[in-house]
Amino acid sequence: MILMNDFQAEPQSLRDAMAAASSRVIASGWYVLGPEVQNFEKQWATACGTEHCLGVANGMDAIELVLRALGIGPGDEVITTPMTAFASALAILRAGATPVFADIDAATGLLSPASVRRCVSPRTRALLLVHLYGQVQGLSEWADWCREAGIALVEDCAQAHLARWDGRAAGSFGIAGAYSFYPTKNLGAIGDGGAVVTQSAELAHRIAQLRNYGQSERYVHPLVGMNSRLDELQAALLAERLRWLPEFTTRRRYVAAAYCDRLRNPAVQLLAAPSQDEAHVHHLFVVTCNSRDALSAHLKQQGVQSLIHYPIPVHQQTPCLSTLRDPQGLPAAESHAQRCLSIPCHPQLSESDIDRVVDAVNSFVPA
Ligand SMILES: *Cc1c(COP(=O)(O)O)cnc(C)c1O
Repeated sequence: MILMNDFQAEPQSLRDAMAAASSRVIASGWYVLGPEVQNFEKQWATACGTEHCLGVANGMDAIELVLRALGIGPGDEVITTPMTAFASALAILRAGATPVFADIDAATGLLSPASVRRCVSPRTRALLLVHLYGQVQGLSEWADWCREAGIALVEDCAQAHLARWDGRAAGSFGIAGAYSFYPTKNLGAIGDGGAVVTQSAELAHRIAQLRNYGQSERYVHPLVGMNSRLDELQAALLAERLRWLPEFTTRRRYVAAAYCDRLRNPAVQLLAAPSQDEAHVHHLFVVTCNSRDALSAHLKQQGVQSLIHYPIPVHQQTPCLSTLRDPQGLPAAESHAQRCLSIPCHPQLSESDIDRVVDAVNSFVPA
């Protein structure tokens, strides 16, 4: 079976480096928020071109921490997309704020600027922009629009490690960018992990306290914080995996380019190509098909795994059924949820794996 992710196929030298890093941490006797975390934070800030990076427990907390550090909570509205991991919306709910769902652009799966405008109210405090599937689009324009509207731009970069727009990394356009290092992300830990990147020293300072019980100095707690710390083991492993990220990203782009060239099936559509070279890091390669479930079954029968991102848009999940949304509805997100399918696109795919995926998709005939 050609899998959506295949960590066991990663290079032996990476596996050896991770084992050595683990031994180093075990021997160090220091396990949470220490020198390994500081080292990784420095490296990830550099990769993102930001002044600050704070390691946290996961990507969802990263979003919640940014919102809380901005003072966004009960009574405040945060506009976001219903076509995302549930965690994006859950972070808004956990901060005590109200999510407001705008519709997507069917060609990319990303938020529609026109729909976002229809969602603005006097209570709008932030736009949580999700770089879905690893693509960034129009970030300079979004940043300008948010500034003029007096709305904070928060970037959900959980799928967009190393994606760049106008030469700048995802996460460096908004007041902050939230990253996840869940194992399946483009940069993944061997467990949970996340980070906030920001240019704001003030925001970084607040998040450094909020992630650690709201503590300013040992046993002094001026803020109602959380426990959302990155551990030394994950930070050391992430630093090793970061060395490989540029090469792995190049390989994802190669696989995606092969699919764009060679997938030819009138029943299967591709999403729009990115409008800038570095704008897409292909966390997922998503096609759309009116007979999506039959396509998925056909792929499985041909030995190709596939997954749906996402089968139920967030506004149709139980905790969000009565939440605010575009007055014109969310038809593009609802249609996308019924038609989208993610096919394998990871750095360990071989040439013959790519051939097999292409043949499997191209040989599909809808009933
Ligand atoms: C994975 C993901 C998250 C949540 O990250 P966790 O580390 O799993 O908490 C948030 N947003 C998006 C778009 C994601 O893909």
